[in-house]
Amino acid sequence: MNETDRLTCKETLRQLDDYLDSELDERQMAMVRRHLKECDMCGSESAFEESVFTCIKEKIQSLPLPDGLKDRVFGRIDELRRENS
Ligand SMILES: [Zn+2]
Repeated sequence: MNETDRLTCKETLRQLDDYLDSELDERQMAMVRRHLKECDMCGSESAFEESVFTCIKEKIQSLPLPDGLKDRVFGRIDELRRENS
């Protein structure tokens, strides 16, 4: 890896949602992962986001809802998370 593969904090946080959803390609995943490991600020931000997101997902998944409705709820959560980032 060379210097051009390094992400800034801004780039990392912008890709954080996709990273947590595993929607980035392998190279981007590795770059974000490395930045999170090296940067305290982004590391704690991602840990916080991940814990909130995982908690919501688990709660919803344990509810007896029809699949279509769950998809809509998850879609809405994604939208909100993108608006807030
Ligand atoms: Zn950072």
